[in-house]
Amino acid sequence: MAAAATTTPSNTLTMKLLVDSRPLRQRVVFAEAGKDTVDFLFSLLSVPAGTSVKLLGKESMVGCTGNLYSSAERLEDPYVQPDAAKDDILCAAMMPPPAAARPNSWVFPLPEPAPAAPAPAPKKFFNCFYSYYYSGCSRYVAEVSGTRCPSCSNQMSRDANLIGSPSPVAKPERKGFVQGGMVVYTVTDDLVISPMSNVSTIALLNACGVRDFGTLQERTVQIGYKEGLEILKASLQSKTVLTDVFLGKKPPSSMKNGGSTPQLSNGRRHDSHTWRA
Ligand SMILES: [Zn+2]
Repeated sequence: MAAAATTTPSNTLTMKLLVDSRPLRQRVVFAEAGKDTVDFLFSLLSVPAGTSVKLLGKESMVGCTGNLYSSAERLEDPYVQPDAAKDDILCAAMMPPPAAARPNSWVFPLPEPAPAAPAPAPKKFFNCFYSYYYSGCSRYVAEVSGTRCPSCSNQMSRDANLIGSPSPVAKPERKGFVQGGMVVYTVTDDLVISPMSNVSTIALLNACGVRDFGTLQERTVQIGYKEGLEILKASLQSKTVLTDVFLGKKPPSSMKNGGSTPQLSNGRRHDSHTWRA
């Protein structure tokens, strides 16, 4: 199981869910995810709060961020600084990407890293005309043409060639957050992410009360913009994010304020709602 690494060379983020299919306990036990998907999940931490409200809708915010957002939205000219850009507050630099716009496309692209400073013009150095003749002169190099030579007191104005200077720093490549390669990560229903190991896998199965592996199903899901939004929304409201989003137990679109599912102390979902229905 642990060897089933899901690498995603394409632009699509995927996750392999291990689903407990017992009728009354149907839920995601955990998911396997590769670097890109894990990077996406961690990128949710960098979504500005105002942008979350914008993306998810004011009414779906559990806390007061929705009110804060509305207040900023309502404020009109006389109360707003003339040069203030409201959009900077309300939706800070998070545009839906054109899907699959670039390799490793993130569902919510992070701001581009600051471009590397342009390479400075190569520095010039000057030495003393008499450095050919006097070893004393040859020991000095000046950054400013015309500097007086400490050895012979003549002006140092002959171009000296600097060699072996370091090559200009290349623009840093976007590497995301976690290591990729062969590393596979475990993502639990409540978004605990860790490198996958047999021990952690067994512990998770135990914690979920899975005794019979026959009840487990594998399901590979794709994470596009819509699912990304639902994960963001569920992560703010629920402890059973993957189950909510991918098993449709509690579609995030129908969530109301404060309507979170009661949790057992170990984070297990209450099944009472199932048999009540
Ligand atoms: Zn000199």
